[in-house]
Amino acid sequence: LKPRRHDILRGKLYIVGLGPGRIEDMTFSAQRVLKDSDVVIGYSAYMSMIRNQLCERTEVITTEMVKVVERADMAVREAMKGRIVSIISSGDSGIYGMAGPVFQTIEELNADIDVEVIPGMTAMSVAAAVLGAPLMQDVAVISLDRLVPLYIILKRVDLAGQGDFVIALYNPKSKTRTDYLEQATEILLKYHSPDTPVGIVKDAGREGEEKNITTLGKLKDADVDMFCIVIIGNTKTYVKNGKMITPM
Ligand code: SAH
Repeated sequence: LKPRRHDILRGKLYIVGLGPGRIEDMTFSAQRVLKDSDVVIGYSAYMSMIRNQLCERTEVITTEMVKVVERADMAVREAMKGRIVSIISSGDSGIYGMAGPVFQTIEELNADIDVEVIPGMTAMSVAAAVLGAPLMQDVAVISLDRLVPLYIILKRVDLAGQGDFVIALYNPKSKTRTDYLEQATEILLKYHSPDTPVGIVKDAGREGEEKNITTLGKLKDADVDMFCIVIIGNTKTYVKNGKMITPM
């Protein structure tokens, strides 16, 4: 079928998850849509990762100091011009990535464009592979992000502890949120022994990857920053030969 004229003019916006950083961990779909794009928008750190994937004619817009919402706004407006646009996220674009802000912006601007979410390998999966097999039972994924009020974050941590979920903590620490992790740890110690295994992976699947398997009791003193993901075991999780394992 020949595309209708309307389809030719209609802009297309891809919301692309790049995975942790290596090209071989990026999906073929992500690689294909990046090649097809007229414009690619995202942080320069991620852009340098994918620069070789782009065509020479591709316009690159790096958005260093720009807030998430403004970046989404830029991407939607580019697509509204009838262009093919990719906006990139690390990991999975649908997990604490650009997908949410982009859909919200499309609604706000009432934008008549096509949108496609291209998922990627999320930090939790990459870190789990580094640690062993910690995610074998049910998992609660929680971000200690400041966009959500602290009492809600801590309530979710509490309920995940009560439910004996394995917990994956994204955004565990930043310069301004140094004590959320400590508070979360205190709550979990109500339900779990201090010996509960905890895996910390920094820059999972990237250059300089580091892993540390410690315990809930020692988590307060562990080295954790915003490039880390923290996986807290449940009451069944154990460590054997340096691997963190949650039995099925
Ligand atoms: N969309 C991303 C998450 C973005 S939120 C994804 O699906 O992975 C940013 C947080 O994700 C960081 O603070 C960190 O906790 C985690 N993160 C992302 N990539 C990571 C990596 N390669 N190694 C460890 N943690 C990572």
